[in-house]
Amino acid sequence: MELKTTYLAQHVRELKPSGIRKFFDATAGMSGVISLGVGEPDFVTPWNVREAAILSLEDGYTSYTANAGLPELREEIAKYMERDFCVAYNPESEITVTVGASEAIDIALRAILDPGDEVLVVEPCFVSYAPLVTLAGGVPVIVPALKENDFKVRAWQLEKAVTERTKAIMICSPNNPTGAMLSKAEMEQIADVAKKHDLLILSDEIYAELVYDELYTSFAAIEGMREQTILVSGFSKDLAMTGWRLGFVCAPAEIMEGMLKIHQYAIMCASTMAQYAGIEGLKNGRKDVAEMRKSYRQRRNFIVRSLNEMGLACHNPEGAFYTFPSIESTGFSSEQFAKKLLQAEKVVVVPGNAFGSGGEGYVRCSYATSMAQLQEAMTRMRRFVENLSDN
Ligand code: PLP
Repeated sequence: MELKTTYLAQHVRELKPSGIRKFFDATAGMSGVISLGVGEPDFVTPWNVREAAILSLEDGYTSYTANAGLPELREEIAKYMERDFCVAYNPESEITVTVGASEAIDIALRAILDPGDEVLVVEPCFVSYAPLVTLAGGVPVIVPALKENDFKVRAWQLEKAVTERTKAIMICSPNNPTGAMLSKAEMEQIADVAKKHDLLILSDEIYAELVYDELYTSFAAIEGMREQTILVSGFSKDLAMTGWRLGFVCAPAEIMEGMLKIHQYAIMCASTMAQYAGIEGLKNGRKDVAEMRKSYRQRRNFIVRSLNEMGLACHNPEGAFYTFPSIESTGFSSEQFAKKLLQAEKVVVVPGNAFGSGGEGYVRCSYATSMAQLQEAMTRMRRFVENLSDN
């Protein structure tokens, strides 16, 4: 019998693995490595939040929850969205608790895309966006957020990319990997494009709490946009809960009904103990979030200053926990720079092209690591850059 060469679907075969993992794998077996590569907090989840999960286990809450999530958690999410972001959602029909923001993005795309529908994806961006559009049968249309505009996409760029098939625009602000945050006025201009062409905004607001200079505006709070926005968020970044896999999505009831069907069949419900932890995080975790934010702000100021001083031009990121310095002055490509830095000084950074073609010439350095580690990493990077110019 003749064997098939592969059982994999063609569109899956053609998918490239994430460019981030490659650099972590390269450090296997190396000692003394400092990683500025990770996209997750160095903090441990606050104790009261961990304790809430432990107590839920002690109380024997080990079965499935409602598909959309525990009613109490959805109520807390609704209160939080209204109090902190000025958007009202009905916890019974407009909120679903998901397995991280990752699942929320996936079910949103799968719910709205017919085969061949286009989604405008602003690059550089989180690595999953374009692949998830493809996996949902859609076509990602890349729109670059340019350096000369401080890595903020302009509304006219998006409008120029709109076709008959465009269904949605994916926005992530503050952004991973650039840290750039859209102002309210910039969001309003993008909202006008969405309204004019009847497009959905898929707004990834996972870094909404990690904003350092300005007030944050949710896309759903922009006048007239609530009905055209799918708002994705979660607990991973602000409450240091990456391993719990807990997120949520808010959207008008009709869209939510579609997303919930996919979630129901694919996932059933998010982890029960994580949901109990989430309730505690929303009720009593805000002061921990404020403390962590304060620490990230100090680290950001330090790392941005250090990178600029060593000649790696770096704009000031307004949110998230990433810097995105230019490495063009070294003459290396992003991948060469990251590889040589790792070999010479054992510091991990992520090549900017892992986040899309607009990221070439840059590297992502996360400052979600302790100040002591950051100081050491900056000393090593300065030495690396100085040695390059000496040679
Ligand atoms: N969206 C962005 C912009 C991210 O940076 C990340 C993680 O790095 C995610 C979503 C995924 O978050 P979660 O852990 O909630 O799945």
